[in-house]
Amino acid sequence: MFLDEAHIHVTAGKGGDGIVHFRREKYVPRGGPDGGDGGRGGHVVLRVRPTMHGLTSFREKQRFRAKPGGKGGPSKRSGRQGEDLVLAVPPGTLVRSEPDGELLADLVEPGDEVLVARGGRGGRGNSRFATSRRQAPRLAERGEPGEERRLHLELRLIADVGIVGVPNAGKSTLLAALTEARPKIADYPFTTLQPNLGVAVLPSGDTLVLADIPGLIEGAHRGVGLGDAFLRHIRRTRVLIHLLDGLSADPLADLGATNAELAAYDPALAAIPQVLAVNKMDDPAVEQRWPALRESLRSLGLQAVPISAQRRTNLETLLERAAKAVAEAPLDAAPSTIPVHRPGPDPSAFELRRDPDGAWRVSGTLVERSAAMTYWEHDEGVRRFQRRLAGMGVEAALREAGVQPGETVRIGEFELEWQE
Ligand code: GDP
Ligand code: MG
Repeated sequence: MFLDEAHIHVTAGKGGDGIVHFRREKYVPRGGPDGGDGGRGGHVVLRVRPTMHGLTSFREKQRFRAKPGGKGGPSKRSGRQGEDLVLAVPPGTLVRSEPDGELLADLVEPGDEVLVARGGRGGRGNSRFATSRRQAPRLAERGEPGEERRLHLELRLIADVGIVGVPNAGKSTLLAALTEARPKIADYPFTTLQPNLGVAVLPSGDTLVLADIPGLIEGAHRGVGLGDAFLRHIRRTRVLIHLLDGLSADPLADLGATNAELAAYDPALAAIPQVLAVNKMDDPAVEQRWPALRESLRSLGLQAVPISAQRRTNLETLLERAAKAVAEAPLDAAPSTIPVHRPGPDPSAFELRRDPDGAWRVSGTLVERSAAMTYWEHDEGVRRFQRRLAGMGVEAALREAGVQPGETVRIGEFELEWQE
């Protein structure tokens, strides 16, 4: 149900730089180190705004950037935190990372949110690097770069009402009759295997989103795994219209079978309130058996609306009942947000290549981040970076690969010269 989509690029704020600073005191030429830490960069967050209905706003702008953190100050003052950037999305937005397609979140209810890019850590000021042996460190860190991500947003309508029933009951026909949707209608089972959605307008002007849910039996017969997406979809519907095929050999047996299928699939599905309808009343055979069928249902404590999806008779009554049931149905309290989890590759892993001009290139999350956080103008900072290179095994790998003195080594946007 692919109604609307967008591709966006988000960048979290860079962390503020930590600073090198020494306390100024009267008569003391140089006091202790008191450089403060930088503040964290702003996160980028997507949050559901219930009044938003589409992703069209993302057509005008695709690049978003949160604010950087502030620089540290003297007297160990920390920089201020960068403001988070909150992007509003409509309910029913699926968020995937690109290009791998990993599902990051399924944002459904008002207020659902997901952090899609983490703000960079603030760099530490030199006051943090003081030890008994090193009392005047000229060493601080720059702020960490903010995370960057490409995202695919996809809007899925969430149905208020799902239509269930055996194959051929007339589900697709009913959806088409009630809404603007025009699903495939066929004389044979196994027609609709994707739920089709449509919007019905009530006499009051309110709208109901209806979904023609492919028969579970249809799916099972075909041996098709309908998958989680399907299950999530049906679970969210607040009311089911259970449509009985008036022409079936045994509509009551169908009712039981479909309910059993629902329960077997997921007990939560069996708990969704149902509005019963008997279809194909335009057929004389159905009209004839209707009184007896109504009585059998009544003896079970059930009441069904007789309709003809094809001739569109009595559909207002059915819609009215469904709307009333929706109004009375509790909202699904189950958490719908998938927490962001990123096992990802080991951040300290790196790769060694040669650029077209012969220079060496080291790429890897941690090594590039360390380079970006180094103050190259402070020897101590550079030495610290070198120790980290050695610690990660970058130095050994370069030697192994045959790096020569005087050759260029690139890390991220930085260029170094190899010296023994
Ligand atoms: P689904 O499998 O439940 O989606 O059923 P369809 O909507 O595809 O309908 C199955 C068959 O029943 C088709 O041949 C429809 O034309 C027919 N049908 C649907 N509704 C009615 C109705 O109200 N009256 C009659 N006579 N036939 C109907
Ligand atoms: Mg169908």
